[in-house]
Amino acid sequence: MSDCIFCKIIEGKIPSTRVFEDSNVIGLVDLHPQAKVHILFIHKKHTHNINQLTHDDPHQLIHLFEGIKTYTENEGHAQKGFRVVTNHGADAGQTVFHTHLHVLAGEPLGSFGS
Ligand code: AMP
Ligand code: ZN
Repeated sequence: MSDCIFCKIIEGKIPSTRVFEDSNVIGLVDLHPQAKVHILFIHKKHTHNINQLTHDDPHQLIHLFEGIKTYTENEGHAQKGFRVVTNHGADAGQTVFHTHLHVLAGEPLGSFGS
């Protein structure tokens, strides 16, 4: 997608701080972190949201979670705990329409929704 900011990040046309990369997925530091550690996991193949991804190619979901598993185990977040969030559509506050999973970690996160 030529007008997609995350596709441009994948192509290296927009700078980002990558903390994870394999053949399918990248993990990058969120520009406006909502926790001490806030990483976005995005698939290199563009989809708009999690439901389109599941419809088009559910294997992408496995790729994303494999990346999250490797990253969180390597960084010690898996032992202490982390949270995975995805926003789908306007009511959820989705602002970038390239499917992404937010990984929040690095501190106690409090009860969900509080
Ligand atoms: P969402 O609101 O769920 O669509 O999440 C989009 C996320 O992308 C937000 O948390 C933004 O802070 C983040 N974001 C937008 N542009 C960039 C960028 N160039 N580099 C890193 N994170 C970004
Ligand atoms: Zn894209």
